[in-house]
Amino acid sequence: MTQLDTRSVHAGRDDLTALGVHVPPIDLSTTYPLPDVGTGGTSYDELTQGHGPDGGSLVYQRLWNPTVARFEGALAELEHTDGAVAFGSGMAALTACLLAAVAAGRPHVVAVRPLYGGTDHLLSTGLLGTTVTWAEVTEVASAVRADTGLVIVETPANPTLELVDIAAVVAAAGDVPVLVDNTFATPVLQQPARHGASLVLHSATKYLGGHGDVMGGVVAAGVEWVGRLRQIRAVTGGLLHPLAAYELHRGLQTLPVRVRAQQATAIKVADWLSAQAAIEQVYYPGLTDSQALIGRQQSGPGAILAFTLTGGYEAAAHVAGALKLITHAVSLGGVDTLIQHPAALTHRLVTPEAKPSEGLLRLSLGLEDPEDLTTDLSQALTQL
Ligand code: PLP
Repeated sequence: MTQLDTRSVHAGRDDLTALGVHVPPIDLSTTYPLPDVGTGGTSYDELTQGHGPDGGSLVYQRLWNPTVARFEGALAELEHTDGAVAFGSGMAALTACLLAAVAAGRPHVVAVRPLYGGTDHLLSTGLLGTTVTWAEVTEVASAVRADTGLVIVETPANPTLELVDIAAVVAAAGDVPVLVDNTFATPVLQQPARHGASLVLHSATKYLGGHGDVMGGVVAAGVEWVGRLRQIRAVTGGLLHPLAAYELHRGLQTLPVRVRAQQATAIKVADWLSAQAAIEQVYYPGLTDSQALIGRQQSGPGAILAFTLTGGYEAAAHVAGALKLITHAVSLGGVDTLIQHPAALTHRLVTPEAKPSEGLLRLSLGLEDPEDLTTDLSQALTQL
């Protein structure tokens, strides 16, 4: 297979020349004409059981959409999995994975903190019928039980960028599937399936789309999980809209270039922040002891960092509000730099013992000139 940069541009487009077009067609049909009742019914059975259309009718958009399938195929190529299943958001994607565990009669989840606040909250509340044991990586093996259906990790983790050794977790999990949230690293920097992860989840809203204008979620996995998740999506309806799929598929074409450029900026800004008196600590994989995994598991430190201010909550709230070029907003992974206060926003619903520090801000670096970003940060910090 060709290299990742080449596949990012061409994946899911190999048939376009034969179709006589240069960009993928968008299929917005919610329903499809059926040849006859009998073959329509057979296709319905196939699709609701999680199989592909295999030349039969597509029946109904909730069961199959060719534009969504193109994006899924392309992402699976980048993640080195058999396939992928796309949803209306990252949380819808996670919901499908949890429902699959519950449906298999294994509703217990072992999870390593920190995690995105929404994921943490969904697991803590047990809203979907799951129970959770929070574990350190070294505790995963002893936390796994007969009814454990999933082990969940995020690396780098939201918001403090800890790196988790995926191969070590996979070994500790035994035959329990490991789900890795790869939103922060993207397949450009890390391909968790190559380290044994069974499920690779993305909030596609972030880097895959890359421009802050499309929501989506996707799980890349082996053929059995793909079937199971398609079945759940067909029945529960957490679909990705075909227009969103088109945008996400287009986003993949520039993903490697964006991620590497944003990472180069993050390295500079992390260094700059480390030298500022008002900053207590900078959290960035390139700076911390998780460096051993850089190179082995993750090819670079990524484009998100976090930092605490010596002035605590007051200083953090002031800086978030005083920035002019950098936008104070949740989300991440887009072409423009965003800053937010995890304890107040993305991790607001996390229980007190696992909540991020009140003095912490999370910064997602965009494609601006790094000096313009440090100039903006500097003017906000000098007001403290
Ligand atoms: N996973 C991570 C690491 C996230 O940061 C987020 C959202 O911020 C999600 C999952 C949830 O994705 P979405 O907001 O697309 O539902």
